[in-house]
Amino acid sequence: MAESAGTDDGHIKAALESVKQRVAAASAERGSAHATRLVAVSKTKPVSDLMAAYDAGQRIFGENYVQELIDKAPQMPEDVQWHFIGHLQSKKANGLVAKVPNLVAVETVDDDKIASKLNSACAAAGRASKLQVYLQVDTSGEETKSGVDPEGAPTLAKHVVEDCPNLELKGLMTIGAPDDFECFNRLAACRHEVAEALGVDAASLELSMGMSGDFEEAIARGSTSVRVGSTIFGARNYANK
Ligand SMILES: *Cc1c(COP(=O)(O)O)cnc(C)c1O
Repeated sequence: MAESAGTDDGHIKAALESVKQRVAAASAERGSAHATRLVAVSKTKPVSDLMAAYDAGQRIFGENYVQELIDKAPQMPEDVQWHFIGHLQSKKANGLVAKVPNLVAVETVDDDKIASKLNSACAAAGRASKLQVYLQVDTSGEETKSGVDPEGAPTLAKHVVEDCPNLELKGLMTIGAPDDFECFNRLAACRHEVAEALGVDAASLELSMGMSGDFEEAIARGSTSVRVGSTIFGARNYANK
């Protein structure tokens, strides 16, 4: 991951500020009382790039790969709030939770097994606070996409709420198919089903949806948390991984 440090700092600061303005404008247009959270997705990017965003005020970062996050976390200030947004294998849950104390959320819980594993990992690590989780929902119906089917989300949500005391069900997350904004509407509909099954207000559950190419459309359809990478940090070079 070695890369010349510092040269991109000005670009990253300017790009971050522009994304923040666009997020705020889209949220205002929706008439939302709450600010939409911006998760800066920094996978494959060197710590110097993350620090440029940090110095420009960003505190919430999203990473996709367990080992990369475990490597980066101790190199960043402790007040960073990490969101894990990649596919998580059960066998890596313990290491992730134990080695990243400031892991705030795992956005990719898509079955009972990984939820239970994260719950026991929190106990094993002696975490003081609950780990927030989002249920990843497959809203595109593509075989290759991970995520629970919308019909399965209420049952999974009940499992988290009833059987996983170290987890806090924060909301639902989806990636969706490119240019298919119906996926965002499907996630919002799924939230209603989940809220009904739990007997809570739909508004008490968040919607994590929207990436570089579509975050404004996602906000218009109810997103409360967007995950933006390349528009802030530039195109990714996976050879850096
Ligand atoms: C990489 C990634 C993002 C960010 O994608 P960009 O198009 O670079 O903004 C968001 N969410 C998930 C789950 C990702 O894997």
